[in-house]
Amino acid sequence: MYINGEWITGRSEFPVTNPATGETIGTVPDCTNQDIEAAITAADRAFIEWKKTTPYVRSRLLYRAWELMIRQKRTLAELMTREQGKPLKASLNEVQYGADFLLWFAEEAKRLYGQSIPSARENQRFLVQKSPVGVVGAITPWNYPISMITRKLAPALASGCTVILKPAESTPLCAKAMMEIFEDAGFPPGVVNLLTVQNPEPVGKAFCTDPRIRKLTFTGSTSVGKELNGLAAANMKRVSMELGGHAPAIVFPDADPVHAAKGLSLVKFLNTGQACISPNRIFVHEDHAEPFIRELSSRANRLVAGNGMTEGTGLGPLINELAIQKVDTQVKDAVSRGARVETGGRRLTDGGLSDGYFYAPTVLSGVTAAMKIYRDETFGPVAPVITYRSEDDVIAMANDTDYGLAAYIYSNDIGTAMRAFEALDFGIIGINDINPTSAAAPFGGMKTSGLGREGAKEGLEEYLETKLGGFAI
Ligand code: ADP
Repeated sequence: MYINGEWITGRSEFPVTNPATGETIGTVPDCTNQDIEAAITAADRAFIEWKKTTPYVRSRLLYRAWELMIRQKRTLAELMTREQGKPLKASLNEVQYGADFLLWFAEEAKRLYGQSIPSARENQRFLVQKSPVGVVGAITPWNYPISMITRKLAPALASGCTVILKPAESTPLCAKAMMEIFEDAGFPPGVVNLLTVQNPEPVGKAFCTDPRIRKLTFTGSTSVGKELNGLAAANMKRVSMELGGHAPAIVFPDADPVHAAKGLSLVKFLNTGQACISPNRIFVHEDHAEPFIRELSSRANRLVAGNGMTEGTGLGPLINELAIQKVDTQVKDAVSRGARVETGGRRLTDGGLSDGYFYAPTVLSGVTAAMKIYRDETFGPVAPVITYRSEDDVIAMANDTDYGLAAYIYSNDIGTAMRAFEALDFGIIGINDINPTSAAAPFGGMKTSGLGREGAKEGLEEYLETKLGGFAI
């Protein structure tokens, strides 16, 4: 743990496991209530001076952290693959994506503009300034263990907030590596702090109730997000919530089904399906279902599951045993209600995979609204295919979910694509595009997928207060 510029040891520790092999790859301290208190005190004290620094000073430090990240790209990626499981190439991409946030917000820090507003009274002037919200509590997930940290910390630090980070219990080593980067970049003691913990509840509670914490930023499941948001609301905290998703992907009849299947297989099996923007319902026009399913299944079949450090691995493990059980339960439920397994549909244990948490890339056809997988987030390598007849039907089916994070459309007709873009109730829509994300673009969801946006100028606003000065002259 890292509190007030000091590395804290001497606590009881908990192990970190490689999900591909089951091996323990390290241990980290399990924080106590005193550590939580110390971190809040440190961040609160550090805020007094940090908020007075110019955006140029903060920008330089963020820029230095970006440089260090890029220099250590390979080491960070290897650590990520061992701790989280994704193939090394995907880890390298994530480290780059994570670093992008540091660079983007190093630049954006200098554009913390306010405004001057004309008054109706001759002897009055209005001035609006932006000021940092204060101490931020940040809770991050394990599926993107580095980029979810920089996506929160970079804008928080750029705006002049101080931060306490609590990473997921499965991936604290990536968080520790990032803290070392912030330390080496020269952030003053107390500005960035890290609490590692096996049971996240006391930290979550402190973030939502301690009066010194002004803002909670959370990425994780909708159920935990709702709980924390309730507690934060009772204490009038600012919140940003990036929660679950259940992304529809619509292949319109004018699109090439083979091209669409290629794109959707890439995004579906990315990170073994463990992404909140992973397609969870793939709608294909009934006339094109056959070539689409054939291509999707053939691509799923060709993916090599294994240890992400091995060259040629296309699909890493799931994070743990519970994740395997969840995926398997959804597949079994779908099959019992009439879905057909086109490929996969089982745990993988042969070829040295038995010590890890591997599930075969799976394609299900004949999926209907009566199945669990139609409504529940899978977070695994399962592509459920549903057929439809008309544009109106498919838009209604796509919107029929409590979630509203990402959606995907394949169409070569500008009118169809624009109508769908406007009719879909989702925060991020990829149009013939399977990667509609960037540090420069707002990421976030509607409905139970969350509150607020990360990245882009919207991402900075999340950490700012608006202060109005009315001057009688
Ligand atoms: P997942 O099911 O994908 O692991 P979670 O929402 O459980 O999603 O976890 C996301 C993050 O939220 C992790 O950092 C985890 O430790 C944290 N978390 C889970 N439960 C709580 C809680 N009650 N209070 C605070 N943080 C929590």
